[in-house]
Amino acid sequence: MLQTDTRRELFFQRCLWCGTPAYRRSFCRVCGAMAFHRERSAGTGVVVRRNGHAQHNTWFVAMDEGFNLLCQVAGTSPVVVAVGARVTLVRSVDPLDQGLPVVELAHPGALLERWT
Ligand SMILES: [Zn+2]
Repeated sequence: MLQTDTRRELFFQRCLWCGTPAYRRSFCRVCGAMAFHRERSAGTGVVVRRNGHAQHNTWFVAMDEGFNLLCQVAGTSPVVVAVGARVTLVRSVDPLDQGLPVVELAHPGALLERWT
């Protein structure tokens, strides 16, 4: 059963008191408040660092809204992914699910052109 529309929607939390964005947290890292409201992310961000072994192709991504999350990069080999690469969300996960959101490079063609 495919639910492509809802799967592409990534929701994050924003602190009701100081406005700090967060993802899967029970309290705000800035002010400690436990009250959040839910916002929808545009689903675009930048790779900031690798997580774990290269073959897993999991990276921390800084989303444009200002929160970080661990993502799996699909559709490319791990060696192509670099810190600073723009990525776009292709599959989200339920906030209670342990699975990772999946992203793809936003401009894979532009990266390949450098090598030809
Ligand atoms: Zn706060």
